[in-house]
Order: sequence, then C-alpha cells, then structure tokens
Amino acid sequence: MPLDKELPPDTEVLIVGSGFGGSVMAAELAKAGRDVCVLERGRAYPPGSFPRDPAGVSLNFWDPAAGLHGMFDVWSFDNIDAIVASGLGGGSLIYANVMLPKDESWFTQPTPDGTATEQWALTRRHLDEHYGAVTEFLRVQTLPNGPADTAFQLPKTTRFLQMRPADGGEPAVLAPLAVRFRDDDGLPSVGAPLTGEPYGSVHGPGYHRRTCRLCGECDLGCNDGAKSSMDTTYLSLADHHGASIHTRTEVIGFTPISTEEGHLFDVRVRVHHEGSSTERSVKAKRLVLAAGTLGSTYLLLRQQDTFNIDNGALGTRFSGNGDYLGFVHSADGDLACTKGPVITAYRHYPGDGRGQGMYIEDAGYPAFAAWLMQLGQAGGMAVDAMRMVLSRKLGDVLGRRKDPNLASEINRILKDGSFSAGFMPLLGMGRDRPDGRLSLDDSGAVLQNDWSVATSEPYFDAMRTRMAAIASGFGGEFTPNLIADFFDRVITVHPVGGCPMDTNLAAGVIDTYGRVREVPGLRVCDGSVFPGPIGPNPSLTIAAFARRSALNLLAEPDFGRAPHPADEFGQPPT
Ligand SMILES: Cc1cc2nc3c(=O)[nH]c(=O)nc-3n(C[C@H](O)[C@H](O)[C@H](O)COP(=O)(O)OP(=O)(O)OC[C@H]3O[C@@H](n4cnc5c(N)ncnc54)[C@H](O)[C@@H]3O)c2cc1C
Repeated sequence: MPLDKELPPDTEVLIVGSGFGGSVMAAELAKAGRDVCVLERGRAYPPGSFPRDPAGVSLNFWDPAAGLHGMFDVWSFDNIDAIVASGLGGGSLIYANVMLPKDESWFTQPTPDGTATEQWALTRRHLDEHYGAVTEFLRVQTLPNGPADTAFQLPKTTRFLQMRPADGGEPAVLAPLAVRFRDDDGLPSVGAPLTGEPYGSVHGPGYHRRTCRLCGECDLGCNDGAKSSMDTTYLSLADHHGASIHTRTEVIGFTPISTEEGHLFDVRVRVHHEGSSTERSVKAKRLVLAAGTLGSTYLLLRQQDTFNIDNGALGTRFSGNGDYLGFVHSADGDLACTKGPVITAYRHYPGDGRGQGMYIEDAGYPAFAAWLMQLGQAGGMAVDAMRMVLSRKLGDVLGRRKDPNLASEINRILKDGSFSAGFMPLLGMGRDRPDGRLSLDDSGAVLQNDWSVATSEPYFDAMRTRMAAIASGFGGEFTPNLIADFFDRVITVHPVGGCPMDTNLAAGVIDTYGRVREVPGLRVCDGSVFPGPIGPNPSLTIAAFARRSALNLLAEPDFGRAPHPADEFGQPPT
C-alpha cells in the first residue's frame, strides 16, 4: 500500500516509530488481524535509494527545523554523542546487522550508584522464545566461511578467528548477521538476485533484493537490499496483513480522551511535506511508543504532566551500552577491511558477573573511506601528486628529457596503500554504568542528558587494554579513541534506557511487557525500556522484547483476541 496515503481518523493500535520495536509490534498485531497504524517521521528508503554522492549525503540528516528530513539523526549531549536513524525501518537501515542475544548472566548488574547488585525483572527465560522467532524470521546467518566459500574469505575475519590473546576473552567467533549471503537455493553467492518474500515488499513490487556484495557499506544503507532491515521484513509483513503505515509523519504529542468506542488517546501528528508541514490528529485505543531511546523518552517527558506521571524513574538509567570505538593501525599485511559486511566476528569477555563484561567486534568500511584515509595521511597522496606535477614542470623549465610513462610516479603517489591496508576500527560495547538521566531543559522542548564516562572509567580502561591485545594480535598498534580519551566523551550508536522497566530494587516506568505503570493503554517498546546496558548489540533484544509485548497485548482480556490466522510466514526456509 502507498506510504503517503491519508491518515485514518482513528485506529485500534497506533505505533510511533518503525525501528526494531515498532516493526515487530506492528507485524505481530497485524498478523493477528488487529487494526494497526504505524507513524514514522522519516522517509522510506527502498534498496537503491541510499545516497552515496557528497550532494546526497550532505542532505541525509534529520533536522526538520533546518529543512533536513534525511536519515542520520546525530545528537550531541554534554559528555556523549549519539547516532540514531530516521526513516522507515529506523536504526535497521544503518545498522551493522549483528543480532546477538543478551548474555544470560548479565540480567544481574551493579545498581546505577554502584552500591549494590540488582536483578532485572526480565530474564533470558522470558526472551528465549522471542529471540528464536526473530532470528528465524530474519534468517539470521553467519558469513559463509567454509573452505569452499572462497568469495567470502576475508583476511580480517580469518585472522581475528585465529587469534588467541590471553586477555580473559573467549576466542573470536563469527557474528550472527541479519544479512542474506545465500541465494534462493541456499548456496553462498555474492550479489545473487533473490526471489521476493511471499509477503511482498512495503516498497512495492518494483524493488528487488540480492545477496551481499561485500561492499562494506552497511552503515550507509544497503543499496542491494541484502540486509534484512525492518522495512523489507517485519514492516512488509505488517503491510501485507493490512497495517496502515505512514512515513514523514511525526508524532508531536498525545492527550487522554475517552470515547464511546474505547479510544483513550488523541495523538497529534505533524506531516512533513517538501518545504512545509501540516498537523493532524488520530484517535487510538492503544498507543505504543517505539520512537527509540531518545524519541520515546522525549515524548513521554513532554507528556509527563498531562498524564500525571510522577514516577521518578522516567528519564533515568540512560547508558551508551558501553560503546567505544578504537583502532588497529600498522597491522601486518592487508586486512582488506573495505571488503565484507561491516562486522563479521566478535570476541566475548564474560567479565565477573557484576561488571566489565564486554564484546569487541571487527569493523570494515567502504572503499571510499580507504581512499580518504590515504589522501589525508600526512605527506599522503595529495602532497605526492603535487610534488610530481612540480617536478615535471621543473623538468620543462630546465629542459630535462621527460619519461612519458607515468606508471612508477603514479605508483609512488598511491604508495602501496599500506596505511589503509593495515587499518581497522574495533567496535567495543558492554556494561558501562547506566547512571545517565534524560530530562527536558527549562524551555521544556530540548532533551538533555547528563551521562558521563566518569563512573564507567574502569570498564573503559579494560576495553582499551583488550583492544590493544587484539591490535597486537594483528601485528599492529592500538590507537585509542582520542576524542573519548582527551575530551572524556564517547559516541554511542546503541543508546538505551530512559523509560526503564523494574528491577528487584527499583520500580521502573514500565513492567516487563512494556506497559506504562501509570497510563492504561500506553506501552513503550524500544531501546528505552532497559534498566541498564544490554551488553552486546541491542537490536535482537529490542525485537524480542517487542514480540513479547505484542503477544501480551493480544492476550489482554479487554482488548480481545482475534482468531490467529495460520502463521504462513512464521517458518521461512533458512
Ligand atoms: C551505525 C550503526 C550501526 C549499528 N549496528 C548495530 C548492530 O550491528 N546490531 C545491533 O543490534 N544494533 C546496531 N545498531 C543500533 C540499532 O540501530 C538500534 O539499537 C536500534 O535501531 C534501536 O531500535 P529501536 O526500536 O529502539 O529504535 P529505532 O530503530 O531508533 O527506531 C525509532 C524510529 O522512531 C522514529 N521516530 C522517532 N521519533 C518519532 C516521532 N516523534 N514520530 C514518529 N516517528 C518517530 C525514528 O525516525 C525511527 O525510525 C547500530 C546503530 C548505528 C547507528
């Protein structure tokens, strides 16, 4: 169905945001025959539409006040920066596809003030069924790595898997990825066309997917449709089952109502057009906030007084999920990091059960980044090219005979590419201290965040030590994140918390099904619901939580349960 259709005046369940939480919720409810409306502020990005040229990329940021309606939504708080996405599919459009479950023992954590140990109200037992269902539906798989899979052999992965530093970590293993590496016959194949899913595509019939081309561009949006992002999977399934999905439609507030038909919320929306916007409202019986950690917490903080939410937990327990970016440089040989999906493998450091457990993953980057690196190197390509031009000009002036063959000069300019060949980012994440608070400034309109690295220093120290061991395993040197170290700030792509669920020591904003304690009919279903870091990349846990919440919503006695049609797409071939 077209994504720019008229908004319905009312709906049974209105879902704000279409990331992992919103998409899984929408698909499960629509499959069960419920009337679902998904409102997403960003645009749709079908395969092939992600910009790559400087003009397109410069516009691909989210700031409607400045006329920007693009995909990258970059936040800068006092001590931490965050990158999230705006678009149909949310963070799945730019994520690196890793789908890891939360470590079973990590549901126990130090309290935010570090004085005690607490237990999440949610456990692995609550999530396992949903981890399995999401993993299966998204056909999560590892990079083909058998002896016959020569096209998929990546030097950085092979060497990472062979490494055995004695640093308290488990050996590297291949990461579970929501990427299609196999063709319709299940055979590993690079860039093979894929037959569409039986449930079609939310983007319409003209868009096709193919298997991974190993271009390293996952974080810019996959133009091949090889990654199983939410738009090509769960949202397409929701669309197939009749969900009403709307892009460029931003929720700006909601108020309580009570209609004879049972509507509890009047939801105000701003519909973005080129150069203008219009405002509308939609009535809903149930409202699900799935606008991401920052988006949902912001919306709930804005409505705090309207709904008399005096729970002191709102805004608390923000964490960057321990994100830390470090670098290997001068590694032996060519790591060829421009080839492959961005992340291929990980090392797990279980920690001591109370803290400091972490994951470290290899990272790749697009080929143009390698060229930029070579260009930017001190005394790099630009300087050498200028030197060649000047030397030939000088030869002219002095009347020297010129060699018409430029091969060796060009080779010298390109050098041997060793700088980029031996350079690899390392992505660390894990268990930092969830002691940040999200709040609104005095104007009541601007989100603030007081999380700082100070209380998590021991964790980040351990991270740096382990990254250094990995760098030396590659025969290279470790460069820490200079911004993090000199300016005491980190950048996260995995923000969590703000609308936390209960722990055994603290009442949260929501329960383990995402129900907002003080507002009947309202749920939160995204990264904001966790009372601490997930540890590994969080998307699988967010998706699993959303499925748990959706099944609970369907079972609500006063919501009624429609007959569940046969789950025709629940068991796709792997
Ligand atoms: C570069 C990068 C790489 C990553 N790699 C991985 C990875 O490999 N594995 C992993 O697990 N995670 C990864 N992540 C993190 C992952 O993307 C997020 O954890 C995940 O997307 C969060 O899901 P969510 O449902 O909480 O919200 P989001 O995915 O953030 O979705 C929220 C949606 O709500 C929309 N929205 C916000 N406000 C409103 C509003 N007022 N009205 C309407 N719509 C609204 C947003 O536009 C967005 O589409 C990565 C992130 C980045 C940036």
